[in-house]
Amino acid sequence: EQEVAEYRKSLAIRVSGFDVPRPVKRFEDCGFAPELMRAIAKQGYEKPTTIQCQALPIVLSGRDVIGIAKTGSGKTASFVLPMIVHIMDQPELQKEEGPIGVICAPTRELAHQIFLEAKKFAKAYGIRASAVYGGMSKLDQFKELKAGCEIVVATPGRLIDMLKMKALTMMRATYLVLDEADRMFDLGFEPQIRSIVGQIRPDRQTLLFSATMPRKVEKLAREVLSDPIRVTVGEVGT
Ligand code: ADP
Ligand code: MG
Repeated sequence: EQEVAEYRKSLAIRVSGFDVPRPVKRFEDCGFAPELMRAIAKQGYEKPTTIQCQALPIVLSGRDVIGIAKTGSGKTASFVLPMIVHIMDQPELQKEEGPIGVICAPTRELAHQIFLEAKKFAKAYGIRASAVYGGMSKLDQFKELKAGCEIVVATPGRLIDMLKMKALTMMRATYLVLDEADRMFDLGFEPQIRSIVGQIRPDRQTLLFSATMPRKVEKLAREVLSDPIRVTVGEVGT
């Protein structure tokens, strides 16, 4: 325990919550399947970034996480890699349809970047990812979602539109990510986020990532996450 505490300190990682899994030092310590290890190597990722060292083992353990680290620290892979594992863990035969992993991001640019990152790792397994955001034809998006997918990366407004059009159902969704939560609040997406969260089964795994933690985001996190573990890397303001 002392060693773990010192390792965290050396990386400027702070954690709170009960039973926090220990941080990893290498991707090899995450228990990833060979296909996923190959996809990681193909990205040129040699070792986990600081946030990944601590967030990966926690997310892989199934716990809810609040991850706070500055832009460029590698938060995306902290939720995308465990999402692939989570999807592959689902029973093969499912009556339900619709995405298993749902990722919300504030802007179409961010949603698109996450979509690209998810696709790189999903490809190896034949997992289908769809991007859902404004500026694309609603009809095309409707058709794509109707064809089925396991991952949806979306801006909140357009995802609500697609849910209203019944382009997808959240019956199968068990892994929800709210990325750049502070920016989603700045852009006024709180009602949409609450609506989306309300449509996903409560026994889901929920992850919230943010560069800062304003009080309103804190309040949402308390309401929609269960026994979360908070991971903070570096000095982060509110
Ligand atoms: P954040 O969401 O925290 O702003 P990103 O997830 O967008 O950061 O990652 C920032 C950059 O770091 C991206 O170009 C990504 O490909 C790269 N990256 C992520 N993880 C690793 C890693 N383990 N090794 C090397 N580069 C990485
Ligand atoms: Mg990010």
